[in-house]
Amino acid sequence: MQDMRHELHVLISMAKIDAALSRCKAELATAPQKKAAVEKTLADIEKTQKEREEKLAGMKKERRTLEIKLEDNAELIKKFKRQLMDIKKNEEYTALLKEIAAVEKNTDAREEKLLMLMDDIEQQESRTAGASAQVSGERERLKKEKLDLDDRERALNEEIEKLNGQKPGFLAELDPQVRKRYDRLLAKLGDIAVANVESEICQGCFSRLPPQTAAEVKLNDRIINCVSCGRILVHYET
Ligand SMILES: [Zn+2]
Repeated sequence: MQDMRHELHVLISMAKIDAALSRCKAELATAPQKKAAVEKTLADIEKTQKEREEKLAGMKKERRTLEIKLEDNAELIKKFKRQLMDIKKNEEYTALLKEIAAVEKNTDAREEKLLMLMDDIEQQESRTAGASAQVSGERERLKKEKLDLDDRERALNEEIEKLNGQKPGFLAELDPQVRKRYDRLLAKLGDIAVANVESEICQGCFSRLPPQTAAEVKLNDRIINCVSCGRILVHYET
């Protein structure tokens, strides 16, 4: 009986280690997904900002093109006006005047377009600048979040290493037969070989135990296996 109590005492320690390992590994498994989500958010905001900047650059390019066209128009009008002075025939004079009028009309339209474009550029510039401050704040926040996730990942790996390091000492204290059973269960089930029973529920497979079994497990004086998953059952308060 004394030996069995000691055996169960060791098994309780093992159950706590297994449960902690399982928790750490489950959290660790979510790390890549969490990091990927942060990276995606970061990439999205960078992309949106790049699009704003590209749009602005496109508008400025369009403005420059319009300005050049207006300069060309002005040159053309100057040229036509010079030509006017040399024209002798009335109909040629009238035809050139018409051409001048057409270029002036085109100039008016382009000037109007340029004014509208300059308004749009001003708005787009202020949007881009406002967003730029927001984006850099958000970028810093997300970088910090990624570093925190890296830290957490490192801490979890350290915890796992520490817990794994504690196991051999406890395993050595187990009866060889029980130890064999523990090793077999762990190899088969992957994470938890000794499970706590909480409110009549096996914490390894989460199935409900018969009340009688749960009551017997609570005594911690013999080895009982879960009928559903086969894990060794113990009881401790969490
Ligand atoms: Zn179970």
